[in-house]
Amino acid sequence: MESLTTQKSPPASQRGHGFASSRALRPSGKVLPEHARGHNRSLVLQALYAGGQKSRADIARETGLTRVTISDLVAELLVEGLVLEMGQREDARPGKPATLLELNGIAFQIIGIDLSEAATFRGAVLDLRGRVISRAEVPLDSNTGADATAKVVALVGSLVDAATLPVLGIGVGSPGIVDLAGVVLSAPNLGWVAEPLHDVLAERYCLPVVVINDANAAALAEHSFGGAESDMMVVKVGHGVGAGLLLGGSPLFGSRFAAGEIGHVVVGTDGGAECACGKHGCLETWLATPRLDAALALAATSEDKIAVLRAAGQRLGIALAPVVGALNLSEVVLSGPTDLLDGPLAEAVIETLRARTMAEFHGDLTLRMTTLGEDIVMRGAAVMVLSGQLGVS
Ligand SMILES: [Zn+2]
Repeated sequence: MESLTTQKSPPASQRGHGFASSRALRPSGKVLPEHARGHNRSLVLQALYAGGQKSRADIARETGLTRVTISDLVAELLVEGLVLEMGQREDARPGKPATLLELNGIAFQIIGIDLSEAATFRGAVLDLRGRVISRAEVPLDSNTGADATAKVVALVGSLVDAATLPVLGIGVGSPGIVDLAGVVLSAPNLGWVAEPLHDVLAERYCLPVVVINDANAAALAEHSFGGAESDMMVVKVGHGVGAGLLLGGSPLFGSRFAAGEIGHVVVGTDGGAECACGKHGCLETWLATPRLDAALALAATSEDKIAVLRAAGQRLGIALAPVVGALNLSEVVLSGPTDLLDGPLAEAVIETLRARTMAEFHGDLTLRMTTLGEDIVMRGAAVMVLSGQLGVS
């Protein structure tokens, strides 16, 4: 799970606040034996996170670690309260029955924040399983720049106050292009250029912070909580259009952190409406919800409305076909307003994809709506915290 980690633990001076113990939950990787121990610890936690109750022997078989190592690590995790003993397995095998272990899903809480909506910043306190414990939101009131950042800080503060257990960390899903240090390089709708959101929040709350692109967060949420395949793409349709990619279960960020930014890719050679970016015929001009709503408002009959939705779906299919073909993706998940996306639009996407890719390799491609609803971004941001702090996802 190394590949999901985007940041080191904060320095010792910033740790401890809200933590059960004063040391990092995951080593930062300077000392080799410590690094190995942290890696093994993550293997044990991941075995329990992914598979329910298991005995020490089950974990040893699954991870390839020795029984002695497992017993040692489990003893440490029991003391920290991250793992619980759940009684003995009832089976007919001779000898001493095995004690079952379970990851304690309520050992910590996580703050998850979604900045992707045009009018409202939303957030939640989540448990380690990504379940929402409590919610908060703050209207954006058209604020941009430093005023928008102040809204994020206030929203996080209200959720830190609402948390009822030690907070493992803060995960933020932001629109725009976000680098691995949690700097929002560009988010035009929020007026952010090189906004150091990670540092602002880490300094204010002295907790581990992860900031990632909202569509990448959505892809991680689908992988951890939505049962998604390991080679998949989430297309997030809202005020803009973005996508998050997972390859082999790892998120793809890209050389300039803009992987999945398909909204301003021009689709086709037949022109199209002018886009906010100055080009004509960007995917967003067909698919972004304000554009779709406007086109549907002009459609006189139900046939006209279906034609609008199908045209948007075809353009999305045209944009996705080379990506699906090049990467051999097995699943595309749509996230956004169900009334717009589910139905003629999704049908046109899959028809277009099938018509434009090689059936023998891509014929089993599935396309579906997300089942995670409007919590997808905040839950994905929480996955980044889980991954960074505990090595599980
Ligand atoms: Zn554009």
